[in-house]
Amino acid sequence: MTLIVQKYGGSSVADADRLQRVAARVAGTREDGHDVVVVVSAMGRSTDELLGLAARISPSPPARETDMLLSAGERVSSALLAMALDALGIPARSLTGAQAGVRTTPEYGRARVVGVTPDRVRAALAAGVVPVVAGFQGRAGDAEITTLGRGGSDTTAVALAAALDADLCEICTDVDGVYTADPRLVPGARRYERIGYTAMRRLAAGGAQVLAAGSVEYAQRHRVPVRVRASHGAGDGTLVCDDAEAAVRGVPREPASPPAVNSVAGAPGAD
Ligand code: ADP
Ligand code: ASP
Ligand code: MG
Repeated sequence: MTLIVQKYGGSSVADADRLQRVAARVAGTREDGHDVVVVVSAMGRSTDELLGLAARISPSPPARETDMLLSAGERVSSALLAMALDALGIPARSLTGAQAGVRTTPEYGRARVVGVTPDRVRAALAAGVVPVVAGFQGRAGDAEITTLGRGGSDTTAVALAAALDADLCEICTDVDGVYTADPRLVPGARRYERIGYTAMRRLAAGGAQVLAAGSVEYAQRHRVPVRVRASHGAGDGTLVCDDAEAAVRGVPREPASPPAVNSVAGAPGAD
Protein backbone atom coordinates (compact mmCIF):
# COMPACT_ATOMS: atom_id res chain seq x y z
CA MET A 1 0.00 0.00 0.00
CA THR A 2 1.44 3.37 -0.96
CA LEU A 3 0.51 6.72 0.50
CA ILE A 4 -0.01 9.68 -1.83
CA VAL A 5 -0.63 13.27 -0.82
CA GLN A 6 -2.65 14.80 -3.63
CA LYS A 7 -3.03 18.57 -3.87
CA TYR A 8 -5.60 20.27 -6.09
CA GLY A 9 -5.17 23.94 -7.00
CA GLY A 10 -7.81 26.65 -7.16
CA SER A 11 -8.75 26.30 -10.82
CA SER A 12 -9.18 22.53 -10.36
CA VAL A 13 -11.85 23.06 -7.67
CA ALA A 14 -13.37 26.25 -9.09
CA ASP A 15 -16.99 25.04 -9.17
CA ALA A 16 -19.27 22.15 -8.15
CA ASP A 17 -18.62 20.20 -11.36
CA ARG A 18 -14.89 20.39 -10.96
CA LEU A 19 -15.08 19.47 -7.28
CA GLN A 20 -17.05 16.38 -8.27
CA ARG A 21 -14.45 15.50 -10.90
CA VAL A 22 -11.72 15.83 -8.28
CA ALA A 23 -13.72 13.55 -5.98
CA ALA A 24 -13.94 10.97 -8.77
CA ARG A 25 -10.20 11.24 -9.33
CA VAL A 26 -9.52 10.70 -5.62
CA ALA A 27 -11.84 7.70 -5.74
CA GLY A 28 -9.84 6.35 -8.69
CA THR A 29 -6.58 6.71 -6.78
CA ARG A 30 -8.08 4.68 -3.94
CA GLU A 31 -9.33 2.05 -6.38
CA ASP A 32 -5.77 1.79 -7.69
CA GLY A 33 -4.83 0.65 -4.17
CA HIS A 34 -3.33 3.81 -2.71
CA ASP A 35 -4.06 5.61 0.52
CA VAL A 36 -4.77 9.28 -0.25
CA VAL A 37 -4.51 12.48 1.74
CA VAL A 38 -6.02 15.39 -0.16
CA VAL A 39 -4.97 19.04 0.15
CA VAL A 40 -7.07 21.73 -1.51
CA SER A 41 -6.69 25.38 -2.43
CA ALA A 42 -9.51 27.90 -2.29
CA MET A 43 -12.02 27.72 -5.15
CA GLY A 44 -11.11 29.62 -8.32
CA ARG A 45 -10.21 33.22 -7.60
CA SER A 46 -11.83 33.32 -4.18
CA THR A 47 -8.62 34.30 -2.37
CA ASP A 48 -8.39 37.39 -4.57
CA GLU A 49 -12.09 38.08 -4.06
CA LEU A 50 -11.67 37.92 -0.28
CA LEU A 51 -8.68 40.27 -0.50
CA GLY A 52 -10.80 42.62 -2.61
CA LEU A 53 -13.55 42.58 0.00
CA ALA A 54 -11.08 43.36 2.77
CA ALA A 55 -9.70 46.26 0.74
CA ARG A 56 -13.21 47.71 0.45
CA ILE A 57 -13.69 47.48 4.20
CA SER A 58 -10.38 48.98 5.23
CA PRO A 59 -7.38 50.64 3.56
CA SER A 60 -5.09 48.65 5.86
CA PRO A 61 -6.77 45.49 7.14
CA PRO A 62 -5.05 44.03 10.22
CA ALA A 63 -2.80 41.14 9.19
CA ARG A 64 -4.38 38.84 11.75
CA GLU A 65 -7.87 39.42 10.38
CA THR A 66 -6.64 38.99 6.82
CA ASP A 67 -5.35 35.53 7.75
CA MET A 68 -8.62 34.63 9.46
CA LEU A 69 -10.43 35.75 6.31
CA LEU A 70 -8.22 34.06 3.71
CA SER A 71 -7.98 30.77 5.59
CA ALA A 72 -11.76 30.50 5.19
CA GLY A 73 -11.32 30.07 1.41
CA GLU A 74 -9.57 26.73 1.78
CA ARG A 75 -12.02 25.66 4.47
CA VAL A 76 -14.86 26.06 2.01
CA SER A 77 -13.26 23.87 -0.65
CA SER A 78 -12.16 21.20 1.84
CA ALA A 79 -15.66 20.85 3.28
CA LEU A 80 -17.25 20.75 -0.18
CA LEU A 81 -14.79 18.15 -1.43
CA ALA A 82 -15.41 16.00 1.65
CA MET A 83 -19.13 16.22 0.83
CA ALA A 84 -18.48 15.26 -2.79
CA LEU A 85 -16.50 12.21 -1.65
CA ASP A 86 -19.21 11.27 0.81
CA ALA A 87 -21.76 11.48 -2.01
CA LEU A 88 -19.67 8.90 -3.89
CA GLY A 89 -19.81 6.61 -0.88
CA ILE A 90 -16.24 7.37 0.20
CA PRO A 91 -15.87 8.34 3.86
CA ALA A 92 -14.02 11.66 4.06
CA ARG A 93 -13.33 14.31 6.66
CA SER A 94 -12.30 17.91 6.10
CA LEU A 95 -9.62 19.32 8.39
CA THR A 96 -8.32 22.85 8.72
CA GLY A 97 -4.55 23.25 8.60
CA ALA A 98 -4.52 23.63 12.37
CA GLN A 99 -6.57 20.45 12.83
CA ALA A 100 -4.21 18.63 10.49
CA GLY A 101 -1.35 19.64 12.78
CA VAL A 102 0.41 22.22 10.58
CA ARG A 103 2.51 24.36 12.93
CA THR A 104 3.99 27.63 11.72
CA THR A 105 6.00 30.67 12.68
CA PRO A 106 3.81 33.57 13.88
CA GLU A 107 4.16 35.97 10.92
CA TYR A 108 0.68 36.51 9.52
CA GLY A 109 0.51 36.34 5.74
CA ARG A 110 3.93 34.78 5.31
CA ALA A 111 4.23 32.18 8.03
CA ARG A 112 6.65 29.31 7.52
CA VAL A 113 5.89 25.72 8.38
CA VAL A 114 8.01 24.62 11.33
CA GLY A 115 6.59 21.12 11.54
CA VAL A 116 3.50 18.99 11.18
CA THR A 117 1.95 16.75 13.82
CA PRO A 118 -0.55 14.89 11.66
CA ASP A 119 -2.21 12.78 14.34
CA ARG A 120 -5.74 13.40 13.09
CA VAL A 121 -4.69 12.75 9.50
CA ARG A 122 -3.17 9.41 10.52
CA ALA A 123 -6.22 8.51 12.58
CA ALA A 124 -8.49 9.20 9.61
CA LEU A 125 -6.34 7.07 7.31
CA ALA A 126 -6.30 4.24 9.82
CA ALA A 127 -10.10 4.35 9.90
CA GLY A 128 -10.35 4.24 6.09
CA VAL A 129 -11.43 7.88 5.93
CA VAL A 130 -9.95 10.28 3.36
CA PRO A 131 -8.57 13.38 5.09
CA VAL A 132 -9.23 16.54 3.06
CA VAL A 133 -6.92 19.21 4.40
CA ALA A 134 -7.41 22.93 3.85
CA GLY A 135 -4.14 24.15 2.34
CA PHE A 136 -2.27 27.43 2.80
CA GLN A 137 -2.79 27.69 6.55
CA GLY A 138 -1.55 26.56 9.91
CA ARG A 139 -1.46 27.33 13.59
CA ALA A 140 1.09 29.48 15.37
CA GLY A 141 1.46 28.98 19.10
CA ASP A 142 -1.61 27.58 20.78
CA ALA A 143 -4.39 28.79 18.56
CA GLU A 144 -3.49 31.61 16.17
CA ILE A 145 -4.41 30.99 12.54
CA THR A 146 -1.72 31.91 10.03
CA THR A 147 -1.40 31.71 6.23
CA LEU A 148 1.67 30.68 4.27
CA GLY A 149 1.81 33.24 1.45
CA ARG A 150 0.40 32.97 -2.07
CA GLY A 151 0.54 29.49 -3.50
CA GLY A 152 1.02 28.14 0.02
CA SER A 153 -1.17 25.07 -0.47
CA ASP A 154 1.76 23.53 -2.35
CA THR A 155 3.79 23.84 0.86
CA THR A 156 0.99 22.31 2.92
CA ALA A 157 1.01 19.28 0.63
CA VAL A 158 4.78 18.84 0.70
CA ALA A 159 4.98 19.34 4.47
CA LEU A 160 2.23 16.77 5.07
CA ALA A 161 3.94 14.35 2.71
CA ALA A 162 7.18 14.77 4.65
CA ALA A 163 5.51 14.32 8.04
CA LEU A 164 3.58 11.24 6.89
CA ASP A 165 6.59 9.82 5.07
CA ALA A 166 4.36 9.56 2.00
CA ASP A 167 5.61 7.84 -1.13
CA LEU A 168 4.69 10.78 -3.35
CA CYS A 169 3.31 14.31 -3.26
CA GLU A 170 1.20 15.00 -6.34
CA ILE A 171 0.54 18.60 -7.27
CA CYS A 172 -2.53 18.45 -9.51
CA THR A 173 -3.04 21.61 -11.50
CA ASP A 174 -4.24 23.16 -14.75
CA VAL A 175 -1.10 22.31 -16.76
CA ASP A 176 0.28 18.82 -17.37
CA GLY A 177 3.69 19.37 -15.83
CA VAL A 178 6.61 21.73 -15.43
CA TYR A 179 7.76 23.34 -18.68
CA THR A 180 10.90 25.17 -19.71
CA ALA A 181 8.73 28.34 -19.66
CA ASP A 182 5.09 29.16 -18.96
CA PRO A 183 3.31 27.02 -21.59
CA ARG A 184 0.42 29.49 -21.71
CA LEU A 185 2.76 32.23 -22.87
CA VAL A 186 5.45 30.32 -24.78
CA PRO A 187 3.99 27.89 -27.34
CA GLY A 188 7.35 26.16 -27.89
CA ALA A 189 7.93 25.46 -24.19
CA ARG A 190 8.87 21.84 -23.50
CA ARG A 191 7.78 19.71 -20.58
CA TYR A 192 10.33 18.14 -18.27
CA GLU A 193 9.93 14.48 -17.49
CA ARG A 194 12.12 15.12 -14.45
CA ILE A 195 13.65 18.22 -12.95
CA GLY A 196 15.98 18.52 -9.96
CA TYR A 197 14.99 20.45 -6.85
CA THR A 198 17.68 23.07 -7.47
CA ALA A 199 16.61 23.82 -11.04
CA MET A 200 12.95 23.84 -9.94
CA ARG A 201 13.82 26.35 -7.21
CA ARG A 202 15.37 28.58 -9.86
CA LEU A 203 12.27 28.32 -12.04
CA ALA A 204 10.01 29.10 -9.07
CA ALA A 205 12.19 32.04 -8.00
CA GLY A 206 11.89 33.31 -11.58
CA GLY A 207 8.11 33.33 -11.22
CA ALA A 208 6.95 29.91 -12.45
CA GLN A 209 4.06 29.72 -10.00
CA VAL A 210 3.30 26.13 -10.98
CA LEU A 211 5.07 25.29 -7.69
CA ALA A 212 5.44 27.79 -4.85
CA ALA A 213 9.14 28.41 -4.19
CA GLY A 214 8.81 27.60 -0.49
CA SER A 215 7.32 24.20 -1.29
CA VAL A 216 10.30 23.25 -3.44
CA GLU A 217 12.72 24.27 -0.68
CA TYR A 218 10.75 22.16 1.79
CA ALA A 219 10.69 19.21 -0.61
CA GLN A 220 14.44 19.42 -1.15
CA ARG A 221 15.18 19.67 2.56
CA HIS A 222 12.98 16.70 3.39
CA ARG A 223 13.63 14.77 0.15
CA VAL A 224 9.97 14.56 -0.79
CA PRO A 225 9.39 13.37 -4.37
CA VAL A 226 6.87 15.69 -6.03
CA ARG A 227 4.97 15.00 -9.23
CA VAL A 228 3.30 17.92 -11.01
CA ARG A 229 0.48 16.70 -13.23
CA ALA A 230 -2.86 17.70 -14.73
CA SER A 231 -5.86 17.49 -12.38
CA HIS A 232 -8.15 16.54 -15.21
CA GLY A 233 -6.40 14.54 -17.88
CA ALA A 234 -3.87 11.82 -18.42
CA GLY A 235 -0.08 11.85 -18.50
CA ASP A 236 2.71 11.40 -16.01
CA GLY A 237 3.55 15.09 -15.70
CA THR A 238 6.91 16.04 -14.24
CA LEU A 239 8.79 14.43 -11.38
CA VAL A 240 10.64 16.94 -9.18
CA CYS A 241 13.41 14.99 -7.49
CA ASP A 242 17.05 14.90 -6.39
CA ASP A 243 19.35 16.83 -8.68
CA ALA A 244 21.53 13.78 -9.38
CA GLU A 245 18.55 11.62 -10.31
CA ALA A 246 17.12 14.33 -12.57
CA ALA A 247 20.49 14.89 -14.25
CA VAL A 248 20.66 11.25 -15.32
CA ARG A 249 17.12 10.94 -16.59
CA GLY A 250 15.99 14.53 -17.22
CA VAL A 251 14.53 15.30 -20.64
CA PRO A 252 14.87 18.04 -21.80
CA ARG A 253 17.99 19.33 -20.13
CA GLU A 254 17.47 21.84 -17.34
CA PRO A 255 18.08 25.43 -18.42
CA ALA A 256 21.06 27.18 -16.84
CA SER A 257 18.85 30.07 -15.74
CA PRO A 258 15.10 30.61 -15.64
CA PRO A 259 13.54 31.79 -18.88
CA ALA A 260 12.85 35.51 -18.71
CA VAL A 261 9.19 35.00 -19.51
CA ASN A 262 8.51 33.50 -16.12
CA SER A 263 9.61 36.69 -14.41
CA VAL A 264 6.81 38.43 -16.26
CA ALA A 265 4.26 35.66 -15.84
CA GLY A 266 4.83 35.03 -12.20
CA ALA A 267 2.79 37.77 -10.59
CA PRO A 268 1.26 36.44 -7.38
CA GLY A 269 -2.40 35.75 -7.19
CA ALA A 270 -2.87 33.71 -10.33
CA ASP A 271 -4.86 30.98 -8.58
P1 ADP B 1 -2.91 26.06 -9.04
O1 ADP B 1 -4.13 26.92 -9.00
O2 ADP B 1 -3.22 24.65 -9.45
O3 ADP B 1 -2.05 26.15 -7.81
P2 ADP B 1 -1.13 27.90 -10.42
O4 ADP B 1 -1.88 28.94 -11.20
O5 ADP B 1 -0.57 28.31 -9.10
O6 ADP B 1 -2.05 26.60 -10.28
O7 ADP B 1 0.08 27.32 -11.29
C1 ADP B 1 -0.18 26.77 -12.57
C2 ADP B 1 0.17 27.79 -13.64
O8 ADP B 1 1.56 28.06 -13.62
C3 ADP B 1 -0.10 27.32 -15.03
O9 ADP B 1 -1.43 27.60 -15.43
C4 ADP B 1 0.93 28.07 -15.87
O10 ADP B 1 0.36 29.13 -16.62
C5 ADP B 1 1.88 28.67 -14.85
N1 ADP B 1 3.30 28.46 -15.13
C6 ADP B 1 4.24 29.45 -15.08
N2 ADP B 1 5.44 28.97 -15.40
C7 ADP B 1 5.29 27.64 -15.67
C8 ADP B 1 6.19 26.59 -16.06
N3 ADP B 1 7.50 26.81 -16.24
N4 ADP B 1 5.67 25.34 -16.23
C9 ADP B 1 4.36 25.09 -16.03
N5 ADP B 1 3.45 26.06 -15.67
C10 ADP B 1 3.91 27.31 -15.49
N1 ASP C 1 -5.50 30.18 -2.08
C1 ASP C 1 -4.13 30.62 -1.89
C2 ASP C 1 -3.70 31.52 -3.02
O1 ASP C 1 -4.51 31.86 -3.87
C3 ASP C 1 -3.18 29.48 -1.68
C4 ASP C 1 -3.05 28.51 -2.83
O2 ASP C 1 -3.86 28.52 -3.75
O3 ASP C 1 -2.13 27.70 -2.80
O4 ASP C 1 -2.57 31.93 -3.07
MG1 MG D 1 -0.55 27.46 -7.16
